[in-house]
Amino acid sequence: MKNSKKIFIILFCIVLLPALFYSVYEISSLDETEEMIGQMYNRQLDAVLFSVNQYVLDVASSWATQIENGLPNDRFVRLLQTNPSIISVVVSDTALASWRSYPVRSPEYFQKLRTHRETISRLLRYQSVAYRKLEPVIDSDSAFIILFAPSSSPSQIVGIVVNNERFITDVIGRKLTDLAQNDFILAVGRISNTAMVFSTEPSTGGLFSQQRPLWIYPDHAVKIRLRGTTIEEAANNRYYRNLILLVILDLVLLAGAFFVYRLIKREMELVALKSDFISNVSHELRTPLSLIRMFAETLEMKRVKSEKKRQEYYGIILHETERLTRLINNILNFSRMEANTRRYNFKLSNINEIIASVLTVYSYQFEKLTFSLDVSLDKDLPAVSVDEEAIAEALHNLVDNAVKYSGENKYLRLASLRSGNTILIEIEDHGIGIAAEYHSKIFEKFFRVSRGLVHTAKGSGLGLAIVQHIVQSHGGTITISSEIGKGSRFTIALPLATTG
Ligand code: ADP
Repeated sequence: MKNSKKIFIILFCIVLLPALFYSVYEISSLDETEEMIGQMYNRQLDAVLFSVNQYVLDVASSWATQIENGLPNDRFVRLLQTNPSIISVVVSDTALASWRSYPVRSPEYFQKLRTHRETISRLLRYQSVAYRKLEPVIDSDSAFIILFAPSSSPSQIVGIVVNNERFITDVIGRKLTDLAQNDFILAVGRISNTAMVFSTEPSTGGLFSQQRPLWIYPDHAVKIRLRGTTIEEAANNRYYRNLILLVILDLVLLAGAFFVYRLIKREMELVALKSDFISNVSHELRTPLSLIRMFAETLEMKRVKSEKKRQEYYGIILHETERLTRLINNILNFSRMEANTRRYNFKLSNINEIIASVLTVYSYQFEKLTFSLDVSLDKDLPAVSVDEEAIAEALHNLVDNAVKYSGENKYLRLASLRSGNTILIEIEDHGIGIAAEYHSKIFEKFFRVSRGLVHTAKGSGLGLAIVQHIVQSHGGTITISSEIGKGSRFTIALPLATTG
């Protein structure tokens, strides 16, 4: 038990622990990967935003240049026609006292201009150093104004009133479509809500991964997401796929470790059984040998006067020799069985005769132990093709056990009968019995039930393994029915079809 715990700990340390660490590492590195993907998109968005802002600035600058050169005559009417996002152009004196506007005369825009005095005075400062700077200012929800002080006419301030929705769809949208290509969906909408003013794929919902405010219209933002899936979806998919793979991997490793553990445990049990076997066999060899020696010496010294006693001692010597021979034969046959070199010599035989020959060998013992014998043989059994010696050996082992494990109740029933196409041989005792949990184990090599009377009964743990091998080599089966304290019945079934 202590050893199997050690094996478990070793397996845990060399297989499961690394797998566990790896899983934890993988799971934590998934977050890093997700972060990396996020950063990639951030960079992408930065690049997009830079292009868009630059483009917007270029467009606004070109408008400013055309207006600057065209004002006050009507040359810029063409500009208005080709750029429907421009609502109006307001031109004022630098003191913001007089004004005019094109194409519509609208005092409202002039009033708007006057609310940005600070920006205008800054623009005039730039103008004084011949630098025309553009300043976008928010006008209302639907429009914004691009203010500038034309360097060519120092006494003027110009405001281009732009419809923001048209500007976003016409000007920015064109650029975004260009930038999005096949990989991304780019859109422009308010920062605070998910409704889009423009999207390169209008059917897409509001789930965008990243957004950045626009220079020209700061409460609107350019938004980005992967075409098809969002970064979160992609990362989540990857995360779950990897997690499932890791769980499967861990389970496979766990199952592998479990099987290795079981295998090693079984091997160790076998090693323990083998060492028990060696001490059992040595004991089993020594007992008959010392008996034989003792009775032979007594006889040799002619100390036994009565002929009856002498006969009894000869009987004991003979019996112990047979026991010794059986044990040695068992070991030899077992090693042949293990090496797969045991050959059977099949010939048509009468099962009842084999049973009778086995009983003869035990007659002395049965008599001595006052066994109650119940033999019922079916006289009409057909001859079957078997290896007589092997079947006799199997029966010897079974009868041996019935005697060995008989306990107080010395009873043995031996029966042969035919059931359809099978010949059944039953060996039944009223001995100590075998608990159900051991019914399949007792046929394993070296296995001995280590409780009750078995402790004191001698044995190698090979008998039933040999019986099973013999029976199976005849195409038959051996079954057990046993109850603790009540006795056991072993039934050999030999098929007539394959044996006959
Ligand atoms: P062994 O040399 O120990 O008898 P076997 O392979 O013949 O080896 O039997 C395996 C174990 O099965 C025995 O150790 C014993 O515990 C149990 N056993 C076998 N036959 C009987 C039986 N007739 N009654 C009770 N226990 C039995």
